[in-house]
Amino acid sequence: MASNSRILITGGSGFIGSWLIRHLLSAQTPVEITNLDLLTYAGNPENLKDVQHDPRYRFVQGDICDEALVGRLMADADICVNVAAQTHVDRSISGPGEFIRTNVLGTQVLLEAARNNRIQKFVHISTDEVYGSIEGTQKFTETSPLDPSSPYSSSKAAADLIALSYWKTYGLPVCITRCTNNYGPNQYPEKLIPLFILNASNDQPVPVYGDGLNVRDWIHVKDHSAGVSAVIEHGQPGQVYNIGSGNEYNNLEITRLILKTLGKPEQLIRFVTDRLGHDRRYALDATKITRELGWSNTIAFEQGLMETIEWYQKNAEWVDGVRQREQHQVAASVSA
Ligand code: NAD
Repeated sequence: MASNSRILITGGSGFIGSWLIRHLLSAQTPVEITNLDLLTYAGNPENLKDVQHDPRYRFVQGDICDEALVGRLMADADICVNVAAQTHVDRSISGPGEFIRTNVLGTQVLLEAARNNRIQKFVHISTDEVYGSIEGTQKFTETSPLDPSSPYSSSKAAADLIALSYWKTYGLPVCITRCTNNYGPNQYPEKLIPLFILNASNDQPVPVYGDGLNVRDWIHVKDHSAGVSAVIEHGQPGQVYNIGSGNEYNNLEITRLILKTLGKPEQLIRFVTDRLGHDRRYALDATKITRELGWSNTIAFEQGLMETIEWYQKNAEWVDGVRQREQHQVAASVSA
């Protein structure tokens, strides 16, 4: 990274974006960070409470689809990291439109502004879900074909291809990261791990899709942030980097671990009708980022999960704040 890099991060008030910002501010390299976030239901200023007064940090509320705003912010940036997205698969199934708007169009607006402003590096945060499902013990590499299943993963795959086209066509130095399932503090409680922790803590049922045997590779958000940071610093233009931990668990195993840690009975498990188009297994080969950029996973899953459970138990105020924001947003949309 150049000395005192000015980094425009989108979606920095969400789960991963907030941890990435914290990671970059705590590193030795001098940075100035602008966080452009629309503050959708998933964006939460509380996630960055500890850094909000840091002179190297600035927050701008706005939409990545807003060409004029994005153009102005990009003019003051050296590097752009696009973390913003609509991220919940179930929401993409019930309403795909917003996923196409934010994840596809929004990415293109950012890329175009980056091209016009000769940005030094554009890092696009993607997901392992773009590869689709893989059976057995095989793993996807960066050259595996894209075969997404849900409107969410398809919108991410579309954005990946558009981003790569800006490298191939215009020479914009684009890097893409594709990470596996993240967990850790500050994750919005619609996602499996925080939802199950909170439900079980309150003796509420935990809804497991289908037979519960869908497999995901789980990585702590701090390890993901370190991987993205390595790509910001040393990633090569036009390259894709898988980020994964090799911590494969099926949903039932995760559920049982959470219940056991909380001392709750397995009777809380409710098998519910499977998600439409539910991918059976995701698994990544992440040797490229380790070999080329020196990144490796550091947090053992069971330890990270235990700490995450403790965090949700100790941060009832954060959870209450999320619930209140949710209610305000529903009330606002009803009265609109
Ligand atoms: P999140 O839902 O917690 O946060 C998304 C953030 O983007 C929110 O702060 C939201 O307000 C903001 N946002 C949404 N639409 C916007 C818009 N139009 N303009 C500006 N800001 C907008 O998501 P997350 O889990 O932190 O995921 C972040 C990124 O990482 C996404 O690109 C996602 O695809 C990718 N990813 C997530 C995971 C995971 O397990 N969570 C795994 C791999 C990749």
